[in-house]
Amino acid sequence: MPTKVIAVANQKGGVGKTTTAVNLAACVAALGKQVLLFDLDPQANATSGLGLEKIDGASAYRPLLGEGSLLEKIQPTAYERLHMIPSEVDLCGADIELARTENHLLRARQALQPVLESARFDLILIDCPPSLGILTLNAFAAADGLLVPLQCEYYALEGISMLNRIITQLRDGGVNPRLELFAVLMTMFDARTKLSQQVVSEVRQHFGERVFETMIPRTTKLAEAPSFGKPIMYYDPYSTGTAAYEVLAQEFLARLKI
Ligand code: ATP
Ligand code: MG
Repeated sequence: MPTKVIAVANQKGGVGKTTTAVNLAACVAALGKQVLLFDLDPQANATSGLGLEKIDGASAYRPLLGEGSLLEKIQPTAYERLHMIPSEVDLCGADIELARTENHLLRARQALQPVLESARFDLILIDCPPSLGILTLNAFAAADGLLVPLQCEYYALEGISMLNRIITQLRDGGVNPRLELFAVLMTMFDARTKLSQQVVSEVRQHFGERVFETMIPRTTKLAEAPSFGKPIMYYDPYSTGTAAYEVLAQEFLARLKI
């Protein structure tokens, strides 16, 4: 089975990309899959959320510029079957530096090639920054599909047409012919508010089957866990947040067919 590469993306900030990348990665690893979480966001929230230090030179920055191998950047985590390519502030400069290179959209795909060839992983999850800049486009060029978290708020669908346009452009322009919107995930769902329900029904109408059955509830435990550097399932195994990401992991694997 070839490694699946999924980018967790939405150019909107604070919609639950990192929370989803970290917790889904942990739950999929717990289900027996070999998982690589690739932090491509200079904010490095996934890195600290998984309890890793932000260390100079530890990120994908140099391999993206063609210096050294991305294989050397893979680090073990405290959890079995879960590895990570951390981020740190140097990735901030990557947008500008990459813009100057040849094939600047294909840098991540090229850097990931030896990782894919090593067949070490069943799944690579990429945590993207909240923009449609060069780092995000590199993730799109390297991915089999996008997982798009949408916050259950009024403006949830805003920006989705832009995302769709970019997918079409990258696909038709030959940058990544297999790119697709793999799935949409409703996050921060609050069953008590009518707004949450309305947004969910609107999104389901728009995306149909592509929306995960599983929704992630709004719960403070999910917001607390990163400050302890732990995925929710290790921070509070019996919380509703843990249950949601565990069910999501099963649905995710079933959809990916791995
Ligand atoms: P950015 O665009 O800055 O990368 P993001 O899309 O990665 O943000 P997160 O960092 O995952 O979003 O979440 C934004 C904030 O909301 C964080 O403080 C996070 O802890 C909190 N949060 C995420 N999901 C939930 C949830 N289901 N319930 C409560 N809080 C949440
Ligand atoms: Mg984030």
